[in-house]
Amino acid sequence: MNIYNHYIGGKYVEGTSGRFGNVFNPSTGEKTSQVPFASAAEVDQAVSVAQAAFPEWAATSVLKRARIMARFTQLLYDYQKQLATLVSNEHGKVIEDAMGSVLRGIEVAEFASGVPHLQKGEYSDNVASGVDIYSMRKPLGVVAGITPFNFPAMIPLWMAGMAIVTGNTVILKPSEKTPGCAFRIAELFLEAGGPPGVLNVIGGDKEAVNALIENPLVKAVSFVGSTAIAKSVYEKSAANGKRCQAMGGAKNHMIVMPDADINAAADGIMGAAYGSAGERCMAISVAVCVGDETADKLIANLKPRVENLKIGPSMKEGLEMGPLVTKEHRERVTGYLQLAKEEGATLVVDGRDFVLDGYEDGYFLGGSIIDRVTPQMKSYQDEIFGPTLQIMRVGRFEDAMDFANDHPYGNGASIFTQNGSVARTFADTVEIGMVGINVPIPVPLAFYSFGGWKNSAFGDHNQYGMEGLRFYTKVKTVTSRWSKDAIGPDFMMPVLK
Ligand code: NAD
Repeated sequence: MNIYNHYIGGKYVEGTSGRFGNVFNPSTGEKTSQVPFASAAEVDQAVSVAQAAFPEWAATSVLKRARIMARFTQLLYDYQKQLATLVSNEHGKVIEDAMGSVLRGIEVAEFASGVPHLQKGEYSDNVASGVDIYSMRKPLGVVAGITPFNFPAMIPLWMAGMAIVTGNTVILKPSEKTPGCAFRIAELFLEAGGPPGVLNVIGGDKEAVNALIENPLVKAVSFVGSTAIAKSVYEKSAANGKRCQAMGGAKNHMIVMPDADINAAADGIMGAAYGSAGERCMAISVAVCVGDETADKLIANLKPRVENLKIGPSMKEGLEMGPLVTKEHRERVTGYLQLAKEEGATLVVDGRDFVLDGYEDGYFLGGSIIDRVTPQMKSYQDEIFGPTLQIMRVGRFEDAMDFANDHPYGNGASIFTQNGSVARTFADTVEIGMVGINVPIPVPLAFYSFGGWKNSAFGDHNQYGMEGLRFYTKVKTVTSRWSKDAIGPDFMMPVLK
């Protein structure tokens, strides 16, 4: 069995708390690794190492930081398959999907390599006689990144890429269920020429997270995970005077209009609802069909495909879906399927009976379709985070909009239609952060930014893109006078003349 250690100051350090978590291969149910759970004292030690590395890294020229990030990007490409294999073995998403997820993280490092252009300040010359004003974007100091289980490489790279390149030093605390990629990413950063102590990774659970939030040297906390924890991390960080961005859960609606190309909508749903076994915060979990005929056509198209999903062990090529991440998570999802039935919804396809011969100990579940879902159902209000599509039937586009708008989550939403005016109204007015038009998973590229609304995100800045740059820097504005003319004392509010 593999034993992970904390990665602090460019080397591995054994955990001393005596507490650890188990990592499983979801395809086989086998325990593969152990990850140490850092105590508050171990977290404080890691933070002091990151703090010691900060002044030199912050003073490193922007071109040098950019070159290290470019070399790091290249190494990430070189080891993309190795990272994807780690993703697949610890998370369970199938290898081709894991490759794509790693790529989306690498793209953020690639974007971050453009930091000499991105981190420019502003300049106004001669705003008064001999007076110039300019602004700079300064790094914050030590920043913490706390990540969820479902994107073990991509989300650490969202955070580390932008935080490091802007001159901060970083402590990553990956999910205890899928920690492997974060450690490997930190090794690659060192190999790329990154100084020791700039990117550190600690294993841990909520004790480590709380210690990071409470340590006064940590200046900002970036969190991605479930809503209840995101909200509490945001509140505690604010109470401790820290900048915080905390992304939470989701319930993403796809509106299917009567004029939609049903086959294209169904294609979109297959990938968006069942890819990665539905364990994506941008998964489509609800299809709101306008008109019974639309719903019936969509279900007729989806049903045979969902019944015949190609499901298997995550490292086997050519599959559509792997297992769920843990036994407990599988039980949580099957619990929601049962609840949906008890609440009066119709299970058109029930994935609970799925068994994969030879992999009886894996955490497999078939795909499900739940029809006739209503807003009062708890199974609709909650995030299920599994390979399940809920179908709602409404009479009008406006009713479909109400469902998306009234739902407490606001991460993503999409519409399938041929009508440009309807699509435009949807994009313009829906109360959701990331919107797709005939695109089922509208995850913005690295040069835009990622973030939901309502209970899907707390804090002001999105992840990556220019929003990421703003999150990881603070603005300093300098007003300078180099003038030979004496101006004399002035007791009034300074007004430039
Ligand atoms: P989670 O909230 O259980 O864990 C996220 C992180 O928080 C982990 O590192 C975990 O160790 C830590 N943590 C767990 N309990 C804690 C506590 N009580 N106090 C402090 N920290 C704690 O989330 P998860 O199950 O790993 O990930 C799935 C969730 O993440 C889903 O809700 C999904 O929608 C969400 N997610 C959101 C986004 C987004 O950008 N909005 C992206 C990916 C995943």
